[in-house]
Amino acid sequence: MMQSSTSTNRTRPVRTRIAPSPTGFPHVGTAYIALFNLAFAKAHGGEFILRIEDTDQTRSTEQSEKMILGALRWVGLDWAEGPDIGGPHAPYRQSERSDIYKKHAEQLIENDHAFRCFCTSEELDAMRAAQMANGETPRYDGRCAHLAPEKTAQLVSESKPHVIRMRVPTEGVCQVHDMLRGTVEIPWTQVDMQVLLKTDGMPTYHLANVVDDHLMDISHVLRGEEWLNSAPKHQLLYEYFGWEMPVLCHMPLLRNPDKSKLSKRKNPTSITYYRDAGVLPEALLNYLGRMGYSMPDEAEQFTLEEMIASFDIQRVSLGGPIFDIEKLNWLNAEWLRALTPEQLKNKILDWANNSDKLTAIAAAIQPRIELLSDAVNWGGFYFQNLPNINAESFTHKSLTPEQIMDMLQLSLWQLETLPTWTEENIYATLKGLAAHLDIKMRDFMAPFFIAIAGSTSSTPVMNSMAIIGADMTLTRLRHAIDVLGGLGKKKLKKLEKQAAELPDFLAAE
Ligand code: GLU
Repeated sequence: MMQSSTSTNRTRPVRTRIAPSPTGFPHVGTAYIALFNLAFAKAHGGEFILRIEDTDQTRSTEQSEKMILGALRWVGLDWAEGPDIGGPHAPYRQSERSDIYKKHAEQLIENDHAFRCFCTSEELDAMRAAQMANGETPRYDGRCAHLAPEKTAQLVSESKPHVIRMRVPTEGVCQVHDMLRGTVEIPWTQVDMQVLLKTDGMPTYHLANVVDDHLMDISHVLRGEEWLNSAPKHQLLYEYFGWEMPVLCHMPLLRNPDKSKLSKRKNPTSITYYRDAGVLPEALLNYLGRMGYSMPDEAEQFTLEEMIASFDIQRVSLGGPIFDIEKLNWLNAEWLRALTPEQLKNKILDWANNSDKLTAIAAAIQPRIELLSDAVNWGGFYFQNLPNINAESFTHKSLTPEQIMDMLQLSLWQLETLPTWTEENIYATLKGLAAHLDIKMRDFMAPFFIAIAGSTSSTPVMNSMAIIGADMTLTRLRHAIDVLGGLGKKKLKKLEKQAAELPDFLAAE
C-alpha cells in the first residue's frame, strides 16, 4: 500500500524547497537546511525554490519574512521561485492560498478521508486531562469521527465552529522511507487524527505543506529531523489525494557544544548576528556545509560551487552536528587570510557600508564630536562584536550584580518579543520595566550602557540598541549576564515566573 520512492534518479525533475515560517529572526538552522536543499537540487541539475509558511497568523510577521529573505540572500542561497520574485506556481505565501487548502480539505471530506470535528477547546482539554489521569498519551479520541451525516449537516447549517481532521488507521505500522535512514517504522497508534483545517479556515502546516509540495512539483523534501514523526500523516495525505510523494530526507539538528538542541540562550542563532559580527557569508555557508557533512577529499575550506560539484546526500552523517562559534571564527579567519589585502579592504568596506546605519550613527555622535577623528572613539562600539567588559565594569552604587542580572534577563525576554525593533518600543519596554521593578530610570539604564557600549559615557543607549539591531543587542545583553556570572537554573525558573506576570508595557504607552 505504501509507495516507496527510494531512488533519486527518477524521471521526475528534481525540485527542492526551503519553507520558512516567518515567526522570528532568520535562524542559522534555516540557512543550513536551505543549503542542503540547494546543493541537492543543483547537484541533480534541478531547481531550488522558496515558499513562506505563514499559516500561523498570530505569530507570523512581515518583518520576519523580510529578514529571512534578506538573510538567505546575504548568505548566498538564491531561489528560482519565491514570494519576492514570483514564478509559475505563485502565490508562494501560504496565507494567499487559503482557498486552495479549503478545497482540498473538502475533497478529503467527500472521500471520507477526513471529518468535521465540533469539539470545543474545553471539551478537548477535559478529554486530554482524563487521558493523562489514566496514564495515557493525550490524543484526539475520535469522538466526532463517526457522527451521523445528518447531525454533521445540521451543525454546519447552524454555523457551529469546527475543524477538519484527517482519518488515521488505528492499528498497524506505518513505514516511511527516508534517504538517510532507510525505512522507518512508526505505529499508527502514535499518529493523531491531525487537524487539517482550523476553525478560522486556515490550514495547519500538515495540510498546507503536502498540498503545496505537490502543486509546486517538489520532488525531494529535505527538512529538519523534528518532522520525522509527522511523516506518516504526510504520507497518508499523499495516498488520500492519490499523489506521488516527494522523497523525504530528515537532516540532523544543529546542536550547542553541550549537545543540546541549538538554542539562542547558549549560542547566537540569528544569521544577521553573524553578518553584523563580521562573518563572511561564504565562510558561514562553508561552516554550515560541514555540519554533519564532509567533502570527499575531507577539505575544510570550500565554496558553495565546490560543495555542489561533489555533492552526495549519503555523505550526511546522522550524529548531531555541533555548531561551535570558535570553529566558525577559525574558519572565517582562514577565509580572511586567503584574501589579498586589497580584497580584504573591500570586504571590510562592504561590511561597514550600510548607509542607513552609518547615517544613524553620524546623527548620534554629531553632538559629541569636535574632529572627524573623534568618530572612532564615539562610534567604535557600533561596529564591535562584544564589548570588552568584565564583572567590575558593572559596579554600581545602588545595584548589586544579582539585581543587575535579574533586570537584564527580564529586559531580554521582553525585548525578544517586540513586534518591531524601534527606539520607541525599546523605550516603552525598559521604562515600563524600571517602573515595575521600582528602580530609578537612571540607575536602571546604567548596566545597559556597559552591556551595549562598554562604557557609561556613550551616545543614548536606547538609540544605540535600535541602531545595532535586535540580534546584536540581545547577544550583548546575554554576554553581559554571562560576564556577571550567569543565572542558575533555579534563579531562571523564578525569573520566568516573574516575567509571566509582567504587564504589556507597549499597551501601557
Ligand atoms: N515551515 C516549516 C518550518 O519552518 C517547514 C518544514 C518543512 O520543510 O516541511 O520548519
